[in-house]
Amino acid sequence: MGRYLGPSCRLCRREGMKLMLKGDRCLSNKCAVMKRKFPPGQIPRRRAKVSEYGMQLREKQKVKRYYGLMEDQFKRYFETASGKKGITGEILITLLEQRLDNVVFRMHYASSRKMARQLVKHGHITVNGKKVDIPSYLAGEGDTVEVKETSKKIIPVLESMKNISRVGTVPWLEVDPDKLSGKFMYIPKREEIDLPANEQLIVEFYSK
Ligand code: SF4
Repeated sequence: MGRYLGPSCRLCRREGMKLMLKGDRCLSNKCAVMKRKFPPGQIPRRRAKVSEYGMQLREKQKVKRYYGLMEDQFKRYFETASGKKGITGEILITLLEQRLDNVVFRMHYASSRKMARQLVKHGHITVNGKKVDIPSYLAGEGDTVEVKETSKKIIPVLESMKNISRVGTVPWLEVDPDKLSGKFMYIPKREEIDLPANEQLIVEFYSK
Protein backbone atom coordinates (compact mmCIF):
# COMPACT_ATOMS: atom_id res chain seq x y z
CA MET A 1 0.00 0.00 0.00
CA GLY A 2 1.49 3.34 -1.02
CA ARG A 3 2.19 6.03 1.53
CA TYR A 4 2.88 9.74 1.34
CA LEU A 5 6.62 10.09 1.87
CA GLY A 6 6.96 13.87 1.56
CA PRO A 7 7.30 16.41 4.36
CA SER A 8 4.47 16.23 6.91
CA CYS A 9 4.45 19.97 7.51
CA ARG A 10 3.69 20.60 3.87
CA LEU A 11 0.36 18.78 4.30
CA CYS A 12 -0.59 20.99 7.26
CA ARG A 13 0.33 24.13 5.37
CA ARG A 14 -1.74 22.99 2.41
CA GLU A 15 -4.78 22.54 4.68
CA GLY A 16 -4.06 25.74 6.61
CA MET A 17 -4.26 24.00 9.98
CA LYS A 18 -2.18 22.01 12.43
CA LEU A 19 -2.83 18.33 11.67
CA MET A 20 -0.37 17.31 14.41
CA LEU A 21 1.40 14.84 12.16
CA LYS A 22 4.70 14.91 14.05
CA GLY A 23 3.43 14.31 17.54
CA ASP A 24 5.10 16.28 20.33
CA ARG A 25 7.25 18.21 17.91
CA CYS A 26 4.07 19.91 16.70
CA LEU A 27 3.78 21.66 20.05
CA SER A 28 7.02 23.59 19.58
CA ASN A 29 7.03 27.11 18.21
CA LYS A 30 8.87 25.78 15.17
CA CYS A 31 5.57 24.48 13.74
CA ALA A 32 5.54 25.36 10.04
CA VAL A 33 1.86 26.37 10.04
CA MET A 34 2.55 28.97 12.71
CA LYS A 35 5.68 30.25 11.01
CA ARG A 36 4.41 30.34 7.44
CA LYS A 37 0.72 31.04 7.22
CA PHE A 38 0.46 30.55 3.49
CA PRO A 39 0.15 27.44 1.31
CA PRO A 40 3.32 25.62 0.21
CA GLY A 41 5.02 27.22 -2.78
CA GLN A 42 7.73 29.73 -3.29
CA ILE A 43 5.76 32.96 -3.18
CA PRO A 44 3.67 33.90 -0.16
CA ARG A 45 0.19 34.58 -1.45
CA ARG A 46 -3.25 35.06 -0.06
CA ARG A 47 -5.53 32.03 -0.12
CA ALA A 48 -7.65 32.34 -3.23
CA LYS A 49 -11.44 32.35 -2.92
CA VAL A 50 -12.45 28.69 -2.82
CA SER A 51 -15.30 27.22 -4.88
CA GLU A 52 -17.90 24.89 -3.37
CA TYR A 53 -16.11 21.92 -4.94
CA GLY A 54 -12.80 23.26 -3.61
CA MET A 55 -14.16 23.40 -0.07
CA GLN A 56 -15.46 19.84 -0.29
CA LEU A 57 -12.14 18.65 -1.68
CA ARG A 58 -10.11 20.41 1.02
CA GLU A 59 -12.29 18.97 3.78
CA LYS A 60 -11.84 15.48 2.40
CA GLN A 61 -8.08 15.96 2.10
CA LYS A 62 -7.86 17.38 5.61
CA VAL A 63 -9.57 14.40 7.27
CA LYS A 64 -7.74 11.90 5.09
CA ARG A 65 -4.39 13.42 6.08
CA TYR A 66 -5.33 13.77 9.73
CA TYR A 67 -5.75 9.99 9.92
CA GLY A 68 -2.77 9.39 7.62
CA LEU A 69 -4.65 7.56 4.88
CA MET A 70 -4.30 7.30 1.12
CA GLU A 71 -7.20 8.05 -1.21
CA ASP A 72 -8.23 4.44 -1.88
CA GLN A 73 -8.34 3.55 1.81
CA PHE A 74 -10.23 6.70 2.69
CA LYS A 75 -12.78 6.13 -0.04
CA ARG A 76 -13.34 2.58 1.21
CA TYR A 77 -14.20 3.97 4.65
CA PHE A 78 -16.66 6.34 3.03
CA GLU A 79 -18.27 3.45 1.11
CA THR A 80 -18.51 1.39 4.30
CA ALA A 81 -20.05 4.34 6.14
CA SER A 82 -22.57 5.05 3.41
CA GLY A 83 -23.68 1.39 3.49
CA LYS A 84 -24.58 1.67 7.18
CA LYS A 85 -27.74 3.02 8.71
CA GLY A 86 -27.35 6.54 10.10
CA ILE A 87 -25.61 9.79 9.24
CA THR A 88 -22.86 8.85 6.80
CA GLY A 89 -20.43 11.64 7.72
CA GLU A 90 -20.63 10.85 11.40
CA ILE A 91 -20.25 7.11 10.84
CA LEU A 92 -17.21 7.83 8.67
CA ILE A 93 -15.46 9.72 11.47
CA THR A 94 -16.30 7.12 14.13
CA LEU A 95 -14.98 4.34 11.88
CA LEU A 96 -11.72 6.22 11.45
CA GLU A 97 -11.49 6.67 15.21
CA GLN A 98 -11.81 2.91 15.68
CA ARG A 99 -8.71 2.18 13.61
CA LEU A 100 -6.15 0.44 15.79
CA ASP A 101 -3.36 2.90 14.91
CA ASN A 102 -5.59 5.77 15.98
CA VAL A 103 -6.52 4.02 19.23
CA VAL A 104 -2.84 3.36 19.97
CA PHE A 105 -2.12 7.05 19.37
CA ARG A 106 -5.07 8.20 21.49
CA MET A 107 -3.94 5.90 24.30
CA HIS A 108 -0.55 7.70 24.19
CA TYR A 109 1.49 4.59 23.39
CA ALA A 110 2.76 6.67 20.45
CA SER A 111 3.28 10.40 20.04
CA SER A 112 1.85 10.50 16.50
CA ARG A 113 -0.40 8.34 14.34
CA LYS A 114 2.63 7.60 12.17
CA MET A 115 4.52 6.16 15.13
CA ALA A 116 1.38 4.31 16.22
CA ARG A 117 1.15 2.66 12.81
CA GLN A 118 4.77 1.51 13.09
CA LEU A 119 4.17 0.06 16.56
CA VAL A 120 1.20 -1.92 15.27
CA LYS A 121 2.93 -3.09 12.11
CA HIS A 122 5.98 -4.25 14.04
CA GLY A 123 3.84 -6.40 16.31
CA HIS A 124 4.16 -4.42 19.55
CA ILE A 125 0.41 -4.20 20.19
CA THR A 126 -2.10 -6.77 21.38
CA VAL A 127 -5.89 -6.68 21.32
CA ASN A 128 -7.57 -8.85 23.93
CA GLY A 129 -4.24 -10.57 24.54
CA LYS A 130 -3.52 -11.46 20.89
CA LYS A 131 -0.99 -9.71 18.69
CA VAL A 132 -2.64 -7.59 15.97
CA ASP A 133 -0.30 -6.08 13.39
CA ILE A 134 -2.92 -4.53 11.12
CA PRO A 135 -3.21 -0.74 11.60
CA SER A 136 -6.66 -0.70 9.98
CA TYR A 137 -8.06 -3.26 12.45
CA LEU A 138 -11.22 -1.75 13.92
CA ALA A 139 -11.23 -1.79 17.69
CA GLY A 140 -14.62 -1.96 19.35
CA GLU A 141 -16.46 -1.71 22.61
CA GLY A 142 -14.83 -3.76 25.37
CA ASP A 143 -11.54 -4.39 23.54
CA THR A 144 -8.38 -4.29 25.61
CA VAL A 145 -5.52 -2.70 23.69
CA GLU A 146 -2.08 -3.16 25.22
CA VAL A 147 1.58 -2.77 24.50
CA LYS A 148 2.97 -6.32 24.26
CA GLU A 149 4.67 -7.46 27.47
CA THR A 150 8.11 -7.70 25.81
CA SER A 151 7.71 -4.22 24.27
CA LYS A 152 6.84 -2.34 27.44
CA LYS A 153 10.35 -0.94 27.82
CA ILE A 154 10.52 0.72 24.41
CA ILE A 155 11.79 4.23 25.20
CA PRO A 156 9.63 6.22 22.72
CA VAL A 157 6.54 4.44 24.11
CA LEU A 158 7.47 5.37 27.69
CA GLU A 159 8.28 8.93 26.60
CA SER A 160 4.97 9.26 24.81
CA MET A 161 3.05 7.89 27.79
CA LYS A 162 4.35 10.77 29.92
CA ASN A 163 1.94 13.01 27.99
CA ILE A 164 -1.09 11.30 29.45
CA SER A 165 -0.68 13.10 32.78
CA ARG A 166 -0.43 16.41 30.92
CA VAL A 167 -3.22 16.10 28.34
CA GLY A 168 -5.24 13.07 29.50
CA THR A 169 -7.04 10.85 27.02
CA VAL A 170 -10.43 10.80 25.33
CA PRO A 171 -13.55 9.78 27.32
CA TRP A 172 -14.19 6.57 25.36
CA LEU A 173 -10.79 5.10 26.20
CA GLU A 174 -9.51 4.14 29.63
CA VAL A 175 -5.78 3.78 30.04
CA ASP A 176 -3.62 2.45 32.83
CA PRO A 177 -0.32 4.29 32.18
CA ASP A 178 1.69 2.00 34.47
CA LYS A 179 0.55 -1.18 32.77
CA LEU A 180 0.50 0.32 29.24
CA SER A 181 -2.92 -1.19 28.93
CA GLY A 182 -6.20 0.39 27.92
CA LYS A 183 -9.80 -0.39 27.23
CA PHE A 184 -12.06 0.83 24.45
CA MET A 185 -15.12 1.67 26.53
CA TYR A 186 -17.64 2.69 23.88
CA ILE A 187 -17.96 3.92 20.29
CA PRO A 188 -17.80 7.72 20.54
CA LYS A 189 -20.40 10.08 19.22
CA ARG A 190 -19.24 12.52 16.58
CA GLU A 191 -19.52 15.51 18.92
CA GLU A 192 -17.05 13.90 21.31
CA ILE A 193 -14.34 13.64 18.66
CA ASP A 194 -12.09 16.68 18.59
CA LEU A 195 -11.72 16.85 14.84
CA PRO A 196 -12.35 20.33 13.45
CA ALA A 197 -13.90 19.21 10.17
CA ASN A 198 -17.23 19.41 8.43
CA GLU A 199 -17.79 15.81 7.36
CA GLN A 200 -20.95 16.74 5.49
CA LEU A 201 -18.72 18.38 2.86
CA ILE A 202 -16.96 15.03 2.42
CA VAL A 203 -20.30 13.32 1.87
CA GLU A 204 -21.13 15.95 -0.76
CA PHE A 205 -17.72 15.48 -2.37
CA TYR A 206 -18.22 11.75 -2.90
CA SER A 207 -21.90 12.09 -3.79
CA LYS A 208 -21.28 14.02 -7.02
FE1 SF4 B 1 1.81 20.10 11.07
FE2 SF4 B 1 3.18 19.35 13.20
FE3 SF4 B 1 4.47 20.30 11.05
FE4 SF4 B 1 3.04 21.93 12.62
S1 SF4 B 1 4.90 20.81 13.18
S2 SF4 B 1 3.04 21.88 10.39
S3 SF4 B 1 1.31 20.58 13.18
S4 SF4 B 1 3.27 18.40 11.18
